[in-house]
Amino acid sequence: MGFLRRIILLGLSLTLLLAIDAGAASKRVFVTIGTGGVTGVYYPTGGAISRMINKKSKQYGIKATVESTAGSVYNINAVLSGDLEFGVAQSDRQYQAYHGLAEWKKAGPQKKLRSVFSIHPESITLIASVKSGIKTLKDLKGKRVNIGNPGSGQLQNSKDVLEAAGIPLSSIHVEQVKAVEAPSLLQDGRIDAFFYTVGHPNGNIKEATSGRLKVRIIPIEGPGIDALLKKYPYYAKSVIPIKFYPKADNSGDVPSIGVKATFVTSADVDEKIVYAITKEVFDNFEDFKKLHPAYSVLTKEAMLSGLSAPIHKGALRYYRESGLIKYIDPALIK
Ligand code: GLU
Repeated sequence: MGFLRRIILLGLSLTLLLAIDAGAASKRVFVTIGTGGVTGVYYPTGGAISRMINKKSKQYGIKATVESTAGSVYNINAVLSGDLEFGVAQSDRQYQAYHGLAEWKKAGPQKKLRSVFSIHPESITLIASVKSGIKTLKDLKGKRVNIGNPGSGQLQNSKDVLEAAGIPLSSIHVEQVKAVEAPSLLQDGRIDAFFYTVGHPNGNIKEATSGRLKVRIIPIEGPGIDALLKKYPYYAKSVIPIKFYPKADNSGDVPSIGVKATFVTSADVDEKIVYAITKEVFDNFEDFKKLHPAYSVLTKEAMLSGLSAPIHKGALRYYRESGLIKYIDPALIK
């Protein structure tokens, strides 16, 4: 082959390569995952999921980014309005949105909500300064308590627990700031206690327990809580391992109740995108599990329970293909 011909051929193949590349780039879709405060577990969870999919960005043409948000309720609403493609949300909030309860009472059942999978367990975590004298739920009366910001998952959990323990909201000084701000408010003595529904371990409770001021985690238990467990299908008993917070003023693991973090989307989101994310997380399950210590308890089966909105079609395609479908409640297949 002559020199000139070779050059021309090389030129042609380069042009072709560039053209293919430009085609892939123009088809690239950007998706955003709504999470929570940066010291919680949702934020690194969004990071973990986006890392799994971004590794294969050439193959799928998907680029995922993470947004820190007000929490579960905000994420569900943003997914439903199309502002976000995905969100992390508590299983109880998923249930309420799908059935038109709590924050969705006026708007009614959110039928477009879709579940993808469950993630880590979360416990209702009540943390108080030792000097406040709070040792049990009953001691919250008259105290300054952060019950959670609007848009968060914990806001309703705190209300449920207080009601179950016979503490009317009117008998406490209610604060409603974001969880990310609560540890410093507690350490500065500007609040006596705060509620946070969150997976363990997390940076927020580490920060709250590592300061100058002694703090303790308060058990969520008693006859009122037992009645609460019977009343709502989405609450279950849980335990907060104290080994994660060695500086807390507790002598052992703390009993509580909890829910699950779940990954949600809308029926409007492209099947291919949901399929790709589901496939990457489950095909690389062992790698995914290593991305946060709160995932150490995860099993594939557990990640398919605790859901109440129908499974998104894209996820379902993967669950059928992989045989994981056997773990899915048939009522969620629509
Ligand atoms: N469960 C909290 C919420 O829904 C967020 C917890 C976290 O960010 O880890 O608002």
